[in-house]
Formats: sequence, C-alpha cells, structure tokens
Amino acid sequence: MPSRNSSVSLPKKQKIFLFLGPQGAGKGTQAELLAARLDIPALSTGALYRHEIEEGTRLGRLVENEVKKGLLVQDEITNALIAWRLRQADVQKGVVLDGYPRTLAQTEALEYINSPVAVIAVTVSDAVAVQRISGRRICGTCNAHYHTVFRPSHEAGICDRCEGVLHQRPDDTPTAVKKRLTVYHENTEPILAMYDKLGKLIEVDGGQSVDDVAAKVWVAVRPYLTKKHPHGHH
Ligand SMILES: [Zn+2]
Repeated sequence: MPSRNSSVSLPKKQKIFLFLGPQGAGKGTQAELLAARLDIPALSTGALYRHEIEEGTRLGRLVENEVKKGLLVQDEITNALIAWRLRQADVQKGVVLDGYPRTLAQTEALEYINSPVAVIAVTVSDAVAVQRISGRRICGTCNAHYHTVFRPSHEAGICDRCEGVLHQRPDDTPTAVKKRLTVYHENTEPILAMYDKLGKLIEVDGGQSVDDVAAKVWVAVRPYLTKKHPHGHH
C-alpha cells in the first residue's frame, strides 16, 4: 500500500460537501445536481473503484479482489484512494463526495485530510427505501430498467423494448435491502452524530420528488457557501 495519505497538504479553501443517505434515498442524483450547480466535480467511491480497476493500478487490483470476494472495500484502500483524489487539480475549488465516508474510520481519515463544510443527509424511511429498491426490474436481454410501481412495463414481467424477461437482482430483494439498511444505520448513525455536533449536518427528506429535494438541498447549502462555516473557530 502506497503511503499516499502521509503527505497531504491542501489549500484550506477546498470546499467538500458530503452526501449521506441509504440506498434508495436518491442521494447520488442529488450529489450530481448540487455538483453541477456549484460547477465542481461529484466523486463517488463506486466510480473511483471502477476507474482504478480499468486502469489496472495496484489499488485497482486490491479493490477488485475485495469486490470479487463479495466484501466491502477496506477502509485503508478507500482512504488512500480518496486522499490521492482530493489532491488533484480539478477538485481544488471544491468537490461533492457521494458514498464516502461510509464508516467512522473513514470519517476520521477525511477529517484528517480536509473537513467537509457541510454534510447533507438525504433521509427516507426504511419502508420507502425497500419499496424503491425491491420494485426494480431489469430486462435480461437488453438491460432496460423498470420499476413495478414507478415505471412498470406494459405487460408484467416482459420488456417493452425487446419482449425479454424481466428479473430482479438478488441484491434488490426486500430481505437483502433490509440487511443492507441495518448495516447502513449501524455505520452511519455515529457519523451523523459527529457532524451534527460540529454544526455541519443538514437533513433533507428524500421522500419527495427529485426537484423538491434538490431545491431544499440548495436552500440549506447556500449559507455554507458564503460564511466560513457557522460553527468555525474564533
Ligand atoms: Zn429488453
């Protein structure tokens, strides 16, 4: 493992915005919308992992191994990747992070690198998250995406485009989703509590339309763009 995070020095002005939220809350979409509005990049750990794997880097090989074993990527690997990425020129003005930090150890690593200016938690009830995810269907032939409630095919179980058979990913069953939500809550509650204490936590109800959520995120984030931060040092 390269000791990439031992020599981190960032300009203090780099503004980091975090998006936290369970799968099904729509946080990835919101992260991208805010990034576009602020004209800064949005980084997701998923995309970073894929990039490293495609480039065939040493980190990429480590990540690929973990994923193949069905494991979550180790904190040390993820932290090293983020520390390196946050030093790149394109994110010196600011960056929106989605899917990181996922654990308290990752949060501590990020605090060491550069503390976020605001942490946006997109919340939905577990019931809504389960409904959103477990209704997903995918065509086995052309890969088209459907949802049994929000975007049903004309004929149940059959693809509109190619008449292929629709199926559910094993990861999307209610049981699998509930299991992941339990892990998510366990890992995330301490992170939310920490940022709440620091006065950086913004909670937004993700149970509304994409546009409504985006509008609320924008209103909540604006004070953090102009002030240092509301609870900064004096
Ligand atoms: Zn199809």
